[in-house]
Amino acid sequence: MKKLRLVLGDQLNQQHSWFKNVNDDTIYLMAEMRQETDYVKHHIQKVVCFFTAMRAFCETLSNEGHQFIYMRITDNENPQDLEKLIETHVTQVGAKKFEYQLPDEYRLDEQLKRICAKLSIETAAVDTEHFYTERYELRDFFKGKKQLIMESFYRMMRKKHDIMMVNGQPDGGKWNYDHSNRKKWTGNPEIPNELNFEKDISELISEIESAGIKTFGKVNQEKFNWPTTREECLKVLRFFCEKLLLHFGDFQDALHTDQKFLFHSRLSFAMNSKILTPKEVVDTVLEYYYEHSDDIAISQVEGFIRQILGWREYMRGVYWKEMPEYKKLNKLDNTNSIPNFFWTGETKMNCLKHALNQSLEESYAHHIQRLMIIGNYALLTQLHPDEVDEWYLGVYIDAIEWVEITNTRGMSQFADGGIVATKPYVSSANYINKMGNYCKECHYKHAKKTGEDACPFNALYWNFLDDKKDYFKNNQRMSMMLNLLGKKDAKELHELKERAQMVISNPDMF
Ligand SMILES: Cc1cc2nc3c(=O)[nH]c(=O)nc-3n(C[C@H](O)[C@H](O)[C@H](O)COP(=O)(O)OP(=O)(O)OC[C@H]3O[C@@H](n4cnc5c(N)ncnc54)[C@H](O)[C@@H]3O)c2cc1C
Ligand code: SF4
Repeated sequence: MKKLRLVLGDQLNQQHSWFKNVNDDTIYLMAEMRQETDYVKHHIQKVVCFFTAMRAFCETLSNEGHQFIYMRITDNENPQDLEKLIETHVTQVGAKKFEYQLPDEYRLDEQLKRICAKLSIETAAVDTEHFYTERYELRDFFKGKKQLIMESFYRMMRKKHDIMMVNGQPDGGKWNYDHSNRKKWTGNPEIPNELNFEKDISELISEIESAGIKTFGKVNQEKFNWPTTREECLKVLRFFCEKLLLHFGDFQDALHTDQKFLFHSRLSFAMNSKILTPKEVVDTVLEYYYEHSDDIAISQVEGFIRQILGWREYMRGVYWKEMPEYKKLNKLDNTNSIPNFFWTGETKMNCLKHALNQSLEESYAHHIQRLMIIGNYALLTQLHPDEVDEWYLGVYIDAIEWVEITNTRGMSQFADGGIVATKPYVSSANYINKMGNYCKECHYKHAKKTGEDACPFNALYWNFLDDKKDYFKNNQRMSMMLNLLGKKDAKELHELKERAQMVISNPDMF
């Protein structure tokens, strides 16, 4: 029986059981589509990375004997739309069955269900065999609970998958080493240069341009550095174990003007495209750690495992539990527009200048830049979460809605009213100065609250607390901040709010 199987651009799992045996009656269908390049404006490197990885995936499996129909973005017969693509090929191939892997985006899940309902042949959806959890496992785990506490989900995952467990207890005696993951990096230990691949992608760039896809951001056409094949992704994983793991946990929250990646793994694209599974990343890292546990402290490793086994699976579970309503949440009623400098990186605020320019140059910023610099500014200036989401979804190499929206709208913007985070991640310049060296070289003075050279984050912080104090009045975790606000002298608060309004109304002047 002829079978047509769809592989989406973020389903590049070569180890999937679909590919165990070659079958002449099975045809795989893949396509670079305007439907996927145009739902938001993407960073050029993100489009390049997905297309390059998709082409490599198709080539590898074709070489193994699997039959692929692959549509490039410029192919004349490419319908650029999923429904037309599937309908046309079901007929052309003479398929009696259509199969797809469950998408991770709600939008595509709904679309595929609609398409299947219209097809007159048998259809089936199968698992991607990527995540540790089933789609609705988190929803079932938290059934009847008021709050979706990440830590309890993480502990369940550690126990269930027997990861870093000894006789039913957490290895090392503690579940969480978060408190030792907060060091400032001041030049030591030395950070190895990142592993680069320097691929020439100029032909692909020409194809993307001739297809008329609108993108933004920078790219070095002769030296494209993201890993896009399984072999390259495994090299990045190996590099992480050998060179970066030793200090990962310590400097997880650090910020530095000279260091774009610090000790971060840069594995998010490799995992989100499903080239690597989270299990093989976790297993490889743990195997390396146990072989080198005399040299590597447990806190470095636990910090990393928590991100993947905990946060990544948790975010996916929250997404499927809360969608589609989640996409519309704006609990803090924020309505301001995103400033132009998010697209240009031109601002005098040094922390934002670095984090934004790095995002535009590399299609990458590490977690604390995303959360405590860019996200912090977006929340303090009360930007509309739709606009913030759109920017984050477009700019980052690893941005796919299930993990982007839960981090942005949830963790960072508190637009979900506390489903993901128990309090908003906001700070004044004090935290930014504590965790990095941005403030040293800044036009503004981090310790000043008012006056022309005062750091904008300070006034914005107090203004945010004052504007939202009614919303947060019953939140225990906000009580200390609100107490301090209550003690502020009326004249000082008035001055802070005036300055904050200046920043909010004229963002591109700062
Ligand atoms: C506002 C905001 C938006 C974000 N958007 C995305 C996104 O679109 N896609 C994305 O993959 N991550 C997102 N993150 C999470 C995190 O910032 C990135 O996963 C990380 O920076 C990727 O770089 P890395 O691979 O070097 O990570 P490392 O620091 O080396 O961490 C290892 C891995 O842990 C996982 N991880 C770490 N933190 C998280 C998290 N909060 N949620 C889910 N997985 C996590 C990632 O798979 C990452 O590759 C976002 C975070 C914030 C605060
Ligand atoms: S002084 Fe303020 S604007 Fe400048 S780097 Fe520090 S926190 Fe950012």
